[in-house]
Amino acid sequence: MTDTNVQKLVIVGGGTAGWITAAAFARLLGRNLSIELVESEAIGTVGVGEATIPQIIRLNAILGLDEYDFVKHTKGTFKLGIEFVDWGKLGTSYLHTFGDAGLNLASVPFHQYWARAAANGHDKDLWHYSLHKRAADTAKFGKLERVGQTAMTGLAYAYHFDAGLYARYLRNFAEQHGVTRSEGIVQTVSRDSESGNITSIELDNGKQVEGDFFIDCTGFRALLMGQELGIGYRDWSKWLPCDSAQAVPSERLETLVPYTRATAKNAGWQWRIPLQHRTGNGHVYCRSFTSDDEASQVLLDGLDTKPLADPRPIRFTTGRREQFWAHNCACIGLSGGFLEPLESTSIHLIQSHVSRLIQLFPQTTGSTAERDEYNRRCADEFEQIRDFLILHYKQTEREDSEFWSYCKNMEVPDSLRQKQHLFASSGRVGRDADDLFREASWVQVMLGQNVTPRSHDPMANGLNDVQLSEFLTNVRKLIEKSVDGLPTHEQFIQQHCASD
Ligand code: FAD
Repeated sequence: MTDTNVQKLVIVGGGTAGWITAAAFARLLGRNLSIELVESEAIGTVGVGEATIPQIIRLNAILGLDEYDFVKHTKGTFKLGIEFVDWGKLGTSYLHTFGDAGLNLASVPFHQYWARAAANGHDKDLWHYSLHKRAADTAKFGKLERVGQTAMTGLAYAYHFDAGLYARYLRNFAEQHGVTRSEGIVQTVSRDSESGNITSIELDNGKQVEGDFFIDCTGFRALLMGQELGIGYRDWSKWLPCDSAQAVPSERLETLVPYTRATAKNAGWQWRIPLQHRTGNGHVYCRSFTSDDEASQVLLDGLDTKPLADPRPIRFTTGRREQFWAHNCACIGLSGGFLEPLESTSIHLIQSHVSRLIQLFPQTTGSTAERDEYNRRCADEFEQIRDFLILHYKQTEREDSEFWSYCKNMEVPDSLRQKQHLFASSGRVGRDADDLFREASWVQVMLGQNVTPRSHDPMANGLNDVQLSEFLTNVRKLIEKSVDGLPTHEQFIQQHCASD
């Protein structure tokens, strides 16, 4: 088979990954490509994935979605961050917010001024200077670009939504933009004997779907990339040992809080995601340290509202595929790897892989330079997120269960160890320039899990003691005033995007 022009794209799988991919390709390359998506209702989707990070707003903007229509139809809510309970130490909690604490002055991060003041006995809680934390605590939400007339940025947010409704919403969008859908289970895959490229897939109903380029969105099955092309999987369970989850919906929360909660348990952690009509819950755990039955009981005991179904088990292996594009096939979503949902990064990874693939999409099936660049950048991104997740487990004082002793004492990648050392020394963050997680995120998780830097950045000595104290007091007052003027999260939703 010679190098052919890419005119027909086939996406296999209709979960969140498949439909995001279809929607984005249809919107951005739909004029040049014919796009067909194949999915099987009999197989179904993983059915979880309900919390996001602010980057999703960019995806919605690219697609041209109306925000309030989107939230309404997915019965969504707004998210300002994640509350981590019992991670660094039993009895402690912190909010990893999407915003910066306070206000950076003269290019010096706010937390450096705060650290200097805290070392002298001033207010020891960084979150007293967090707009997001104050809004979260009072269950408030609103569109706020900045705080008063200052340079302090306003509320950065993401969404919680119903995963099933989200896939349906994107499917409508993609079909309206010309994507065709075929129902059926893929039974065989045909390949060109010379190049190894995939030429067509055959479904259980006899239909044959031919294509020039294929995207594997078949979830954990990784039908094309793993099973057919034999691309291996890099297992990271020694650093992120959880390998199972059970998910259960429960009644909606009485007060609709604008944040996800992640509570550490004896052998893992439990999520709580507030939606308009129900609460999403799940327990992520490691079977080397607990049983499925015990994990199920922990989940049910930890619910804040009445369960609406029985817990549903899901198995996984944390890690990533060795390559994300091989021959004329790329994998997006769970087929490309899995990082546990602690920081709600999977949907973001789908989004960023799709936009990268669109940026590098080949004219012809034989483009190896684009493929190599794509593989390199996807691998780097996975590794950066992996390190940030490992930090949550490693940076703990807990040794009250075998699981936590393991996490506290495990070896971590050098890339993370270096960041921990630097922060413990002077509160500086040694993040890579293209790291998904901003400096403020690293700072919040380090401080939230009880790292106290031994010193602060000397640039924060630019203010004298009186100026510093005034600065901190003013920041706090500004934040309080700003949040006081916001509606409650519930009021905001009722006003703009309540579901039927
Ligand atoms: P799936 O949803 O499994 O879809 C696979 C598709 O492939 C289906 O349509 C299926 O029918 C089709 N298929 C498979 N085999 C065949 C075949 N032979 N023939 C035809 N079709 C086939 N992400 C977040 O961003 N935030 C979260 O809060 C979050 N929480 C999570 C919690 C857990 C416990 C887990 C496991 C994941 C979570 N994720 C989260 C990840 C998120 O759920 C996934 O990234 C997202 O749902 C995408 O899944 P997918 O589309 O890759 O796979």
